[in-house]
This record gives sequence, structure tokens and C-alpha cells, in this order.
Amino acid sequence: MTEPRLSARGITVRFGGITALDGVDLDVPAASTVGLVGPNGAGKSTLFSVLSGLRRPNAGRVFLDGLDVTASTPQSRARAGLARTFQHPELFSGLTVREHVTLAYRLKHTPLRVWTDPLTAGGFRRPRAEERDRVDQLLSGLRLQPLADRTVRGLPLGSARVVEIARALAREPSVLLLDEASSGLDVAETEELAEVLRRVVAERGISVLMVEHDVDLVLRLSDQVCVLDFGARIAHGTPAEIRADPIVRAAYLGE
Ligand code: ADP
Ligand code: MG
Repeated sequence: MTEPRLSARGITVRFGGITALDGVDLDVPAASTVGLVGPNGAGKSTLFSVLSGLRRPNAGRVFLDGLDVTASTPQSRARAGLARTFQHPELFSGLTVREHVTLAYRLKHTPLRVWTDPLTAGGFRRPRAEERDRVDQLLSGLRLQPLADRTVRGLPLGSARVVEIARALAREPSVLLLDEASSGLDVAETEELAEVLRRVVAERGISVLMVEHDVDLVLRLSDQVCVLDFGARIAHGTPAEIRADPIVRAAYLGE
């Protein structure tokens, strides 16, 4: 078996008296999609923060391509190939879709925080031909070409989420972390998102970890699913195994 792209071992996080995560293990293998699900308060967001480097665990280690990144900043993890999206898209309402993706492509090895002010990151100059080609490729791969020159202001949430994904992919990551990518989307938008994710994994061979409240979506898209409950991993396996797991059915699927 090849080494997982991203892996967590024995992650424990405490908030005062609350143990949000209690010795959790998680592996995201190369070129595969892993779903992370669990009821509210299970510890999903906390694990996500630990993986992306926003929170240091009380115990446990995080490995990216076999390297221990437990003490690394989010910026250095981003440089090492980890990209993420946010539950609430953090886009610039006045920039066009193409500008978002172009900036991300240009800044691919700089910290996400720079995004708070693109002008301090060097302003917006005209893209070079090669840059423009790569951005066009990405936009058409995600079917964003028709929206390329629209500002993000007023885009439907479903499209804004795909723009976020496009921006993350422009950084050419090896692992993409998706935080509740389907939340707030209607059925049609969710289907479109599912399409996009399937294509991204198939075409780019990247690994995806998706934190989702939509269990059905996760079971359809993931190769492996990890179920958290009260800070512990109560199950992990293929979607078929998870569907059949009596503990999961009792604790989570409400059966
Ligand atoms: P989920 O994302 O699965 O809903 P969270 O990771 O947000 O769960 O939360 C797990 C537990 O940790 C919950 O009991 C939550 O109240 C607690 N928690 C999360 N973040 C904090 C924080 N910053 N301070 C105190 N408690 C927190
Ligand atoms: Mg959460």
C-alpha cells in the first residue's frame, strides 16, 4: 500500500473540560475521496482545523506525504500541497471569477491570509499568456467559463462554491479539504457540485477530504468514510460498510 497523502494519528483536542477529539486516527490515501461525517458537536470542524494547521492538538500528530507537519503553520502546509475551502465562501465581491482564479494561480505558494487584501499581494496586473491558458483550462474544466467575467457579487451560492473550489485548485494542491461544501445548496446545485468533485478527482488524481452534513452526498462520493461521534471515531470503511454498520445506524442515521 502506498503512503497516505494526509494522515492523523491519535489526535486529541481539549477545550477546558470538553474533550472535542479523543485520540482520532484518519488517513486520506492518494487519489481518493474520504468523507468525514458525524452529528453536530462530534468534532469534525476541530479535526479539520488540526489538519489544516489552524489548531494545535493537545496530543497526536499530522503527516502530509509522510512528513510530520504537526508543528507547521497553515501557510507551510499550503505550500506543501494542502488546500482548503471554507464553509462560508470567502470571495471578493468586486472581483470577477477569472480574477479570483488568476490571483490564486499567481499566489499559489503564498499564505491564504494574503487574500484579505489582493492589492497588498501585488495588485492585479494583466495575466501573461501562459497564466491565462492555465486559468482558462481550469475554468472550463469546472464549467465556469460562462461566468468567467462576472463579478462574484450576486452569483448563486452553488456557483460561488465552485469558484472557491477553482481557487483552491489553482494552487495545484495534492490534498483538498472541503468544509461543508454542500451546505446551503439546493438539490440541483448539490448535484452540480457532486459532478465537479467527481471530475476533479478523476482528472487530477488529487485527494479530497470532505466534511459534510449531507451523509447521502458523502456516501455517494467517497471511497472511504470516517464517522465521528463525541470526539471519537466510531466507524470507518467503505460507503457500503458504513451503511450497514449497526453502530452508525444507531448513533447517527437515527435508526
Ligand atoms: P462539529 O464540527 O462536528 O459540529 P466541533 O468540532 O465544532 O464539532 O465541536 C466539537 C466539540 O468541541 C463541541 O462540544 C464544541 O462545543 C466544542 N468546541 C469546538 N470549538 C470550541 C472552542 N473554540 N471552544 C470551546 N469548545 C469548543
Ligand atoms: Mg462543524
